[in-house]
Amino acid sequence: MRHQFRAKRRLGQSFLLDSGILARLAEAAELSPADTVLEIGPGTGNLTRELARRAGAVVAVEIDRELEPLLAETLAEFNNVHLVWGDFLAQDLTRLWELAPPDPGGTCKVAANLPYYITSPILVKLLTSQSAPALAVLLVQQEVAERLVAVPGTRAYGSLSVLVQFYTIPELVLKVPPRAFFPAPEVSSAAVRLRLRSDPPVDVQDSALFFQVVRAAFGQRRKTLINALLGGLEWADKDTLAAALKEAGIDPTRRGETLSLEEFAALTRAVRSAQADGRR
Ligand code: SAM
Repeated sequence: MRHQFRAKRRLGQSFLLDSGILARLAEAAELSPADTVLEIGPGTGNLTRELARRAGAVVAVEIDRELEPLLAETLAEFNNVHLVWGDFLAQDLTRLWELAPPDPGGTCKVAANLPYYITSPILVKLLTSQSAPALAVLLVQQEVAERLVAVPGTRAYGSLSVLVQFYTIPELVLKVPPRAFFPAPEVSSAAVRLRLRSDPPVDVQDSALFFQVVRAAFGQRRKTLINALLGGLEWADKDTLAAALKEAGIDPTRRGETLSLEEFAALTRAVRSAQADGRR
């Protein structure tokens, strides 16, 4: 690698070298010159360059300062890239967009070949923020990509599927083999495109409670739904949960992973009204 740089596995460094795939990833982000695109982990800048050609501005957050000379070289011809050095998870997303706000008619988007070791916290941060991106194209492990688009009743369906499908409409856009990277990862990868929903797909009334219920339901996959909820929701007792499940029309002996978004929402509403009854 140029400048004697040695990739750091602990930082998830696996650089995309295939120019065809880099271009397809950038295309998948549907960028216009009015848009600002945020890149998490620009690395050596190969994807950054493709983004800078298509968007009005790129804000790129990189944790590894040793990449500075390489990045400066790759990005020398662009004046629309704003580099931020630090841990993406510690950044204020609104502040990042403010570094280069989109032009009128443009939106804030994300495109990244993610450091795989922090995929879930990155997803949570992006999607639950007040300034969530309108669209995100993320290269992740193929197994994770399958979880994001999974339907109820499948092995891949879990709390991450519900989180992503609650906030966005996800789709698989591209599979990427290990040989497209250096160093090659041990697993296959896939790009997903997440399109932010303008309104939630279901009425949950209280999204914090909704995600508590979802996490509890998936917390102990081998247990029946009622026992998983009992184990995961410390404040709940069995009678309250049985009443809430009945009100929501959900069989308490089902497994959490068979519930659709609509059923999780109905259960959340029923738990909320059971809690309110208990307080009266
Ligand atoms: N975008 C480059 C590419 O496609 O070749 C590099 C992708 S590499 C999979 C992930 C990048 O994220 C690395 O450059 C790594 O140093 C960076 N990174 C790892 N943890 C990070 C963090 N917490 N915040 C920001 N960048 C991070």
